[in-house]
Amino acid sequence: MDHVKNIEDLIEQKSDLFVSMSEKIWEFAETSFQEKQSAKYIAENLVKQGFTVEEEVAGIKTAFVASFGSGKPVVAFLGEYDALAGLSQEKGVSEYQPVEKGGNGHGCGHNLLGTGSFASAVAVKDYMEEHGLSGTVRYYGCPAEESGDAKAYMVKAGLFVDVDFAICWHPAPVNSVLRMDVLATQQVYFRFKGRSAHAAASPYLGRSALDAVELMNIGVNYLREHIVPEARVHYAVTNTGGHSPNVVQSDAEVLYLIRGRTVPQAKEMYERVCKIAEGAALMTETELEIVFDSGSSDLVHNHVLDDVVQSSMTRMAPPTYTDQEREFAKAIRETLSEAERDSYWAKGLKGHSLTDFVVDREEIDEMTGSTDVADVSWVTPTTQCLTTCFANGTSLHSWQAVSQVGMSIGQKGMLYAGKVMAATAIEVMQNEELLAQAKRELEERTAEIGYISPIPEGAKPGLEK
Ligand SMILES: [Zn+2]
Repeated sequence: MDHVKNIEDLIEQKSDLFVSMSEKIWEFAETSFQEKQSAKYIAENLVKQGFTVEEEVAGIKTAFVASFGSGKPVVAFLGEYDALAGLSQEKGVSEYQPVEKGGNGHGCGHNLLGTGSFASAVAVKDYMEEHGLSGTVRYYGCPAEESGDAKAYMVKAGLFVDVDFAICWHPAPVNSVLRMDVLATQQVYFRFKGRSAHAAASPYLGRSALDAVELMNIGVNYLREHIVPEARVHYAVTNTGGHSPNVVQSDAEVLYLIRGRTVPQAKEMYERVCKIAEGAALMTETELEIVFDSGSSDLVHNHVLDDVVQSSMTRMAPPTYTDQEREFAKAIRETLSEAERDSYWAKGLKGHSLTDFVVDREEIDEMTGSTDVADVSWVTPTTQCLTTCFANGTSLHSWQAVSQVGMSIGQKGMLYAGKVMAATAIEVMQNEELLAQAKRELEERTAEIGYISPIPEGAKPGLEK
């Protein structure tokens, strides 16, 4: 039997398990580094499927690696399972209706992402057993994609040194190979410490940490004119020093996310932002503490592997939808602004509420964002696909996304992604020349500068701070 058909059958046989797992993780909705239940639940299910699990890898409580088989080749499936704060929303509902006001929600569909990769790992394992295929299949439990870049820390810990190739995916409004212009990042806390005082009686005795944050932000906003156009600088004030205007605020904190084309460019921008922070501290006579949080790299595409993904996608039928699902997608689109409704990921999607066909890589619009999958892509050939998990025009990180990734539309996309990734893995595992080509492409693309970790020596991931 053709391996593509075989993989489709293997995923279908366990589809009830995969769907229920994605629903469970949707309900857990745990944010970066807090994914205790989600990580434990996926790891337990991997054990039930015959994998051995190493927990708490790279010094991160919610990161793990599950393995089946032995020897070469080693294929890695990357799984994410973190949710976003403030995005609580009922599933399968086409109006804003939070489950819990201010609660978390899976606005990026990582409940599907983690489970889709799980489905692939299990299908590859089942196929290996059925056909006596040798090699190793691994599932990398990768927490904190939304904030924390756990994969960059996992790469730094050497967890990918023996991996031959890696595969990941992301929920989207389209079925395609991922074509994305990924920017490198540096995320850093700037903490100012001053002296509190009565704001009316003795303001001259106080030194305001909040003033320092404000002056720093003004300085950075002036910097914007003098940075390369592709760079991005964002900030959030994470501690304003309290709610009392009649107190001179002694503590304040601002979190900066700095993006550049490459890691050296992002690091250079980071140094410039640090100088502005030092200037703000000098102006306000406050003390400054700079705490590095996380960072990620730009993405190294691998067209050899991308081509295998593309052919796996076209060799199996993408999901079709019921009238009810199509009506639901239309109802979701009614809640979007006109600009959102008209924003398609590819020209060919115009006029479609739900994408039920495969789009060629070249037809997908170039987008800008960041992902820590990029760090893996520097150390092993890596490919990613997108599958339709929500209506066209749906933004990631929106209540509309949370609603759809908890229901059949998202689940169909997840099963399709699971099949595509598993079929890709089986094809590459059985074709030494193809794998050698993918490795050569990585060597060529990284020959000039090589991998520079975005994580400085001594930096600790997430909650350890
Ligand atoms: Zn995401």
